[in-house]
Amino acid sequence: MLVLSGGTGTPKLLAGLRQLVPDEDITVVVNTAEDLWVSGNLVCPDIDTVTYLFADLLDMDKWWGVAQDTYRTHEALTSAGHDEVLRLGDRDRATHIMRSEFIRQGASLTEAVGRTARMQGAGATILPMCDEPVSSMITTDTGTMHFQDFWVGQRGRPEVLGVEYQGVKNTTVTDAIRHAVEQEDNIIIGPSNPITSIGPILAVKGMKELIQSKHVVAVSPIIGCEPVSGPAGKLMSACGYEVSSRGVARFYEELLDVFVVDERDGLGLQGVGGMDVAVTVVSADTMMTSAEKSKVLAKVVMGQLV
Ligand code: GDP
Repeated sequence: MLVLSGGTGTPKLLAGLRQLVPDEDITVVVNTAEDLWVSGNLVCPDIDTVTYLFADLLDMDKWWGVAQDTYRTHEALTSAGHDEVLRLGDRDRATHIMRSEFIRQGASLTEAVGRTARMQGAGATILPMCDEPVSSMITTDTGTMHFQDFWVGQRGRPEVLGVEYQGVKNTTVTDAIRHAVEQEDNIIIGPSNPITSIGPILAVKGMKELIQSKHVVAVSPIIGCEPVSGPAGKLMSACGYEVSSRGVARFYEELLDVFVVDERDGLGLQGVGGMDVAVTVVSADTMMTSAEKSKVLAKVVMGQLV
């Protein structure tokens, strides 16, 4: 089973899928366009969340970081006058140190992420979307900034004018992703932010062509006209997409075979209005507020695979 993921919505679905399928049978291709170097180490927020989920370390209240982590290093740095854009936990930082050491020793990001995940006991195969650095850069009314500076540093407040995946022109699909996709008939796109989580994955050179022939089942991250959390609404509007499941379907249009939307959306089972492509629309309760609800939605998704 192969799932494209960001760092919040799709991990909730993965929490359901892993109740139904052994971790060893799950491959997750993860967004890296929110990565950034902090105090000398590479932080990969989405990869970290997915890794901690499969290592049973994740703080499932926040859906990022290690449960019951401490913040002594961050506090020591801050009190000495060294600001960090992210409030990193101590155990979380240990992951970043290990991964960055592998990279400094010459490992690719794919190798570094795989080794770090195995050392932490994650059984799933966790693959960064590419080995080259890519950054989601948000152009706002106060200037262009990295996604983390916009969302964490400025609390998502500036008006968004556009989004660019800086560095994506230099990317190629990794051998690990090509090999993994070739083994699969289905691709699952989880309920993640289309613009800053799934968009960068699909923008990796050769990625769309690679998955186009597969049976693609996506879950909408939007319920009604609002994302469940995060800045997806603001970013979708700025990029010219309606903030709705219909807008998400338009974003995935050429890839989509089955689209799981929330039962509160009322889009019906006749296909997503205004789209020319043949899409099967399935309604379900997509609000994953418990492990049980994640499992129920995961069953719906698995029921759509060929
Ligand atoms: P990020 O990397 O932290 O931005 O995380 P993702 O892109 O993976 O997830 C953010 C998206 O997940 C947001 O657009 C939310 O609307 C969506 N999301 C979060 N929780 C849920 C949920 O329980 N159900 C659904 N359908 N979407 C969710």
